[in-house]
Order: sequence, then C-alpha cells, then structure tokens
Amino acid sequence: MTAELPLSASPFDRAAHRRSDATWLADAWERARVVLVSPQSLVPTASGRLATRGAADAPDGPRRFLGLVDDLPYFAVTAEPDSEGWVSLREFGARADDLEAGLVVCAVALQQWHHRHTHCPRCGAATVETQAGWTRTCTADGSQHFPRTDPAVIMLVHDGGDRALLGRGHEWGEGRFSTLAGFVEPGESLEAAVAREVFEETGVRVSDIRYVASQPWPFPASLMVGFAARLVGDPAISLDPVEMAEAGWFDRDQIARAARWTDERQPPDPDATLRGISPRLSISRYLVDEWLGGRL
Ligand SMILES: [Zn+2]
Repeated sequence: MTAELPLSASPFDRAAHRRSDATWLADAWERARVVLVSPQSLVPTASGRLATRGAADAPDGPRRFLGLVDDLPYFAVTAEPDSEGWVSLREFGARADDLEAGLVVCAVALQQWHHRHTHCPRCGAATVETQAGWTRTCTADGSQHFPRTDPAVIMLVHDGGDRALLGRGHEWGEGRFSTLAGFVEPGESLEAAVAREVFEETGVRVSDIRYVASQPWPFPASLMVGFAARLVGDPAISLDPVEMAEAGWFDRDQIARAARWTDERQPPDPDATLRGISPRLSISRYLVDEWLGGRL
C-alpha cells in the first residue's frame, strides 16, 4: 500500500460477508454514519471535512454498505444537494484524510456504477440494487451484475538519465503536460498496455516496465495502475495527433520548475514549453515526484 498517494489508502474494513445479512444490516443502519453522494457525485462538506449524518437524518433510498471503521458502520445513500458545501471528489480529495477519501471514493464509485447500469446487459430488463449496493439483479432473469473497475495504465517514461517523456492532451491548456496513460484492452497484460500506449501516442519504445502504485479514479470506474518505463533506442517522437496535441522530453529542472508553478499557482515563464503539470492529488503527479526524487 502506498499511503502517501491520495485516494489509495482505503483504510476501512469492507466486511463483505455482511452484505447479504439483512438482519445485521438493519441493526447496523440504526447506529451508522451515512455518507451522502449526489447523482452528480458531489459530497457534502462542513468546515472542510466530510459531513456525514446519522441514519435518522438520512434521506430515503437504497442503502449501500461501505464498511466498518472500528465497529462503526458506514453507509452511502444518494441525495440531492440540499445546501452549500457540496463539492466534487476532485476538489475534496486533495484535502481529505485517508478515511474520508476512502469512504468518498467508494461511495462515488458505487454511485457512478448504479447510475449507469440500470438495465440488464443480457436481456435489457430493469435491474435493482441487491447485496447492500454491491450487486444489481435483473428483475426478469435474475442474473447478478457486479460493479465495474476498468484498469488504465499511467506511466512515467524516462530515458535512464535526466529526461522524462510528457504529453499534452487536446483539451488541456497550452504548456500543461502530464504522464502518458491509456486503457488496458481485453486480453492484454498491464505491461503490454504500457508499451503499446507509449508507442501509439509517441512512437517511442520502452522496456524495464515496473509497477509503482495504483489509484482508484471512479469517473466512471477507472483504476489507474502506475508504472515506470525506460526508453530503449531512438528517443525521437512520432506523435499520434488524434490522441495528443504535443509531447516532449523534459529534464528534471524543467519539470521541477513546472511543479512549483503548479503548486504555488504562480504565473509561469511564458516562454517555457512546459508550464504546468498535474496537481498533487493525482497518480500522474505522484509518479513525477517519485522520479524527481530519484526513487523510480
Ligand atoms: Zn436480464
């Protein structure tokens, strides 16, 4: 476990064996803390902390059992935002502690899945929530369906020396770069996905592909699996213009400077090619910082 990577600690007991125990769940609900999550995946905060409720003050709706913290049960319930202080996981995750982040990531992941899986992929009939929010069951054929987690790889590609390969997506501002990333395809290993995505996006070949850390990113259902990979052969970039607007090799000084501009919200040097990188919440940034610190 990588405790210093935001959103990755998951510091509660999911107690999965309780999900089918209706008697236990009913009792647990009475003494539970309830995490509200809106259909847009916003969560309520108060004074910068996650605002949970007692069961008596929770809205009606399916009760999703998140797990236990010591002996205290936590549930998630969908609710419309009713006052100020509702924020996105992106906004809240950066300042949440590990427990808050773990609860919110889980609640948002379930909310996103339920929201998108209202009908049976086999027969098209409606499905309903079962197993305390951890399955959906078809009302026509009884088939059970489980929450999705779609693996994506994200990789810090370096040249074995002082430079790393970063790219800029079309939707990002000028000067803002990040590590390369992409979805794992059916029938593909994680390592093969790293090598394929790097080659497709930049024409660069890599080897020495090593796992570093992972981070759940429930928009809607990604698990970001982070790697380091080393250039082999020619560093010349052959860009895929559909996937990327720009890519380049940047040295440690350039990247460290862009990290400072990003963190301190300072105006960057307008002449610099690299002016901003991913914020600290992200696994992309974690990989960059590990590399800058000489740990990859
Ligand atoms: Zn069905």
